[in-house]
Amino acid sequence: MARPDSRALSARAVATLAGLLAAAALALAGCAASAPAQPAAAERQPVTILLSIDGFRADYLQRGASPTLARLAAGGVTAVMHPSFPSKTFPNHWTLVTGLRPDRHGIVANRMEVAERKAPFTLATDDPWWWNAAAPVWVDAERAGIRTAAMFWPGSNVAIGATPAEAGREAVLGTRPSDWVPYHQAVNDTQRVNMVLDWLRRPEAIRPRFVTLYFDKVDTAGHHHGPDSAQTLQAVAEVDRAIAALESGLKALGQPANLLVVSDHGMAATSSERVIALDGLLDPERYHLVEAGTFASLAPRPGAAEAVERALLAPHEHMQCWRKADIPARLRYGTNPRIQPILCLAQPGWLIQATAPRQAFSGGNHGYDNMAPEMNALFIANGPAFAVGRALPSFDNVDVYPLLRQLIGLPAAAGVDGSAAVFQGVLRSPAPAAPN
Ligand code: AMP
Ligand code: ZN
Ligand code: ZN
Repeated sequence: MARPDSRALSARAVATLAGLLAAAALALAGCAASAPAQPAAAERQPVTILLSIDGFRADYLQRGASPTLARLAAGGVTAVMHPSFPSKTFPNHWTLVTGLRPDRHGIVANRMEVAERKAPFTLATDDPWWWNAAAPVWVDAERAGIRTAAMFWPGSNVAIGATPAEAGREAVLGTRPSDWVPYHQAVNDTQRVNMVLDWLRRPEAIRPRFVTLYFDKVDTAGHHHGPDSAQTLQAVAEVDRAIAALESGLKALGQPANLLVVSDHGMAATSSERVIALDGLLDPERYHLVEAGTFASLAPRPGAAEAVERALLAPHEHMQCWRKADIPARLRYGTNPRIQPILCLAQPGWLIQATAPRQAFSGGNHGYDNMAPEMNALFIANGPAFAVGRALPSFDNVDVYPLLRQLIGLPAAAGVDGSAAVFQGVLRSPAPAAPN
């Protein structure tokens, strides 16, 4: 959705972005004019590309609108992937690149509030404090001398590990991908693909070996028009064409790629006829609502805990609420201090709002139970590292990070929530180093 906070950019960031895109255009023009010979495919090592199509529900692949994805799936490995709870964009993109569930990596929601931070966390927050509980795969790669580049990814603009200067203490600089671009929805799909191809056109010493690429339009269409709309199918077709352009660009460069196409979550149809209004259950003065929608997170006002619990913890037809400590274990959510004292989760297709809707609406949303079929996410792996034509049983998205480490050539990480074991039977030999 076009959220104001997701578009917030400083003038400096816009200037940087404009400069980057201009440089990309120049590089393209220069290349067309002088057409330098590209090294033969055999000379190039495969690049690992992690490509996210936000909000691409697993079954969109079967709707006949994405021939490129269908071909990549048929020529590689595919599976239904389960997101982590909550099935929201930032928590799941951070899980994909850290191998940790949101409860552990700290990006527990798209919006967070804590007492020790004045400003809430929103989609525009690049304050490292929020992001420092986990290191994404590009941080370890950069520190190991493996160059990385991000054509958008939540957290890729954040200097991980940075600390501000304090009296008597120097600031510690953080790590970002060597190349990254400030997020802006207005950068179109073609520009995103061309930026990646430009990075790969560089001489080997400054060419990335790991790249992220992100497309938002399928999620946006899903929110506005619902998962079963012609507009969402149209967005799927457009992103599919952008991926075809990426493929042919890679081919023209002679650049082999291990391509992982994933999504962060699915999409469920919502409607103004399926709304649970909190003010019908409880006096709004008694609690502070941090987030509402597919789930609600809230804190009782001082002295109101008992009344809030009495009203919310009672059974409700299309919603269930828990004290933070009682959230079911299968959601693996509830120990992080950033999680509010009460979580209410709507049945897929229902929404929890502070008040009843004033206007009729229909559309789509996500954030529900991560095992709900409507939240199923996409996974396709294609490239020299992968077997051809293999379907895997469904797995959790925490498993992508260990696979990424293996593809990039990083040692297996200890203590993460996922494992690359599920992929070992579909990696081609000679496979990249197996995890410990
Ligand atoms: P949501 O549907 O609320 O979970 O979040 C999806 C929204 O996140 C999309 O509309 C994107 O525009 C926005 N978004 C995705 N990546 C970024 C980013 N790196 N920075 C800021 N906003 C982003
Ligand atoms: Zn998303
Ligand atoms: Zn969304």
